[in-house]
Amino acid sequence: MHLDHKEELAKRGIIWFYDYSGDPKKPHAILHSGRHSDGFTRPEIITKDPDFLNEICNDLITITWSKIGNIKRIKKILSLDLRSNIIAYNMALRLGQIPQYGNTCLHGGYVIEECNLPSRPSMDIRTGEEILLITNFFSETIFSDIPLIDSIIMESGGNVLPYVATFMNQSGIRTGNNKEILALVNRKISKWVPDECPLCKNNSSPAVSIKNWDFSDCPLYLK
Ligand SMILES: [Zn+2]
Repeated sequence: MHLDHKEELAKRGIIWFYDYSGDPKKPHAILHSGRHSDGFTRPEIITKDPDFLNEICNDLITITWSKIGNIKRIKKILSLDLRSNIIAYNMALRLGQIPQYGNTCLHGGYVIEECNLPSRPSMDIRTGEEILLITNFFSETIFSDIPLIDSIIMESGGNVLPYVATFMNQSGIRTGNNKEILALVNRKISKWVPDECPLCKNNSSPAVSIKNWDFSDCPLYLK
């Protein structure tokens, strides 16, 4: 297991945080939404390096294992967003299962009916099977979806384990909605509309949009 996931993920450009202990004038981020932020995640980078993906999925299983004891309890893995499917697949393989994984089509606490994807998990859930929820990063939005996801799985006969495993918990929430968040990295990311951004008020510049972000050119990485 990596000794310092935060350092490793940051080195690879998967996560970035404003350094509150450093020079306050260092730049901060502009998100897709136009809001200013003291951090962001780029989980898609994880999947670009298969060896790193294997390593980090292994670490995720290790921390989950330490909580639930018998890892064989997990019969299926449900990813909470489409982009996490490759992680769910990798973890299922590592658990020695025929990969059985699925995703929900949920966003912002309601089922998106018009997206032509199933609103129920795209997996065959058998009665009593225990299911682990995973996501590449955990946000307040995903947190608000959990009661609906629980109810959908329970209607299907499955039991949802009381954990969500994630690489990065950016919500600041550790427990709630009958779940404990098991994260390799815990760090709340704050977001503000530009007029209310405390970092701008502190003479830091909003420096970069991650929309067309080039790792090598990113001024946030300049030392
Ligand atoms: Zn700002």
